[in-house]
Amino acid sequence: MKILVLNAGSSSLKFQLFDMTDESVMAKGIVERIGLDNPFLNYTGREKVKFERKDPVDHKKALQWVLEVLVSADHGVIKSLDEIMAVGHRVVHGGEKFTGSVLLTDEVIAALEENKQLAPLHNPPNLMGIYATKEVLPHVPMVGVFDTAFHSTMPEEAYLYALPVELYEKFHLRRYGFHGTSHRYVVQEAAHRIGKPLDSLKIVSAHLGNGASVAAVKYGKSVDTSMGFTPLEGLVMGTRCGDIDPAIPIWMMRELKMSYQDVDTLLNKKSGVYGLVRGRSYDMRDIEEWAEAGDQEAIRALRIYAYRIKKYVGAYAAAMGGLDVLIFTAGVGENSPIVREMVCEGLEFLGVKIDKEKNNSRGDAIISSDDSRVVVMSIRTNEELMIARDTYEIVRR
Ligand code: AMP
Repeated sequence: MKILVLNAGSSSLKFQLFDMTDESVMAKGIVERIGLDNPFLNYTGREKVKFERKDPVDHKKALQWVLEVLVSADHGVIKSLDEIMAVGHRVVHGGEKFTGSVLLTDEVIAALEENKQLAPLHNPPNLMGIYATKEVLPHVPMVGVFDTAFHSTMPEEAYLYALPVELYEKFHLRRYGFHGTSHRYVVQEAAHRIGKPLDSLKIVSAHLGNGASVAAVKYGKSVDTSMGFTPLEGLVMGTRCGDIDPAIPIWMMRELKMSYQDVDTLLNKKSGVYGLVRGRSYDMRDIEEWAEAGDQEAIRALRIYAYRIKKYVGAYAAAMGGLDVLIFTAGVGENSPIVREMVCEGLEFLGVKIDKEKNNSRGDAIISSDDSRVVVMSIRTNEELMIARDTYEIVRR
């Protein structure tokens, strides 16, 4: 009943080993610097240990390294690899084909290969993690859990862009949305905690991490979300601009003679909060600290950041015809009372009333006042647990 969850990035491999009898985490960690000299493995099992190597490792060697530690006499938490019942993989883009988690058969893996170009930064490393697992644990079933899948319930009016429709038909150019596993987890948690059925609630979920997105979840189904064809659209993020006039990149290329690669880097890596404070930081902890000390640029960046979220909350309340629950999650959402307060300020007309004392907290809490019509919550997200649950469900069938 042990499930290994893997999240393979281009230079890292994150893992968590779950015991599904009580959903406890037996071990977790990350291999970093894959493909580079001096890779290391940060491992937390019975205690925290850091392992280092001189020679580069690829994804397969990185996985073998993790598995060796998991069964080692000194630091291991299982006796044999046979205890691993299945491996759950995070896959960023499922395209239109994958609307839920699936068993990773050869056929499915071939279909994922075809989807590669939809998420050129994320899907290729996800696939490397899948191939590595296939080689190292050939008899263990694998399940793919997609960031996009939860949003596959969006109606056409939410997912189609007003572009020539042939672009959608030929190239699948449409809104997909991301962070679906996180949004799905927190809406389930929210319903559970307030003791109401998910299919009776209109929820706006704000996942505010380095990447950030808002989802409108009506009666348990995603009906709209702020990220689009790529994770660049929507909110102001750590280094991503979110919504801008689509003519701006054209202007940059024409007037500033920038290449499309330069524009891509500027919008994805040099914009957002980072761009607004002249590249001093993209970490909200710094921005808040500076804002508190009176740094006008940091104060403005915070106001722009919160204002964009507020606009989406209003838009999604309109899209759903009401709002029962507002959720804040991920790094900023779980830890930043000031951002939550700034977002909620002025939303009293929707029935949002925050309790400043309750809001002065981190992690899991109801932060609205008792007489607030909308329940406002901060919920710690847990995408890994969601992946483990899906994997367990699918391989048990
Ligand atoms: P995530 O992508 O969910 O890991 O979120 C990472 C981001 O959360 C960091 O870059 C910070 O901007 C933000 N963050 C983490 N801890 C805090 C905190 N205590 N206060 C404000 N922001 C935080």
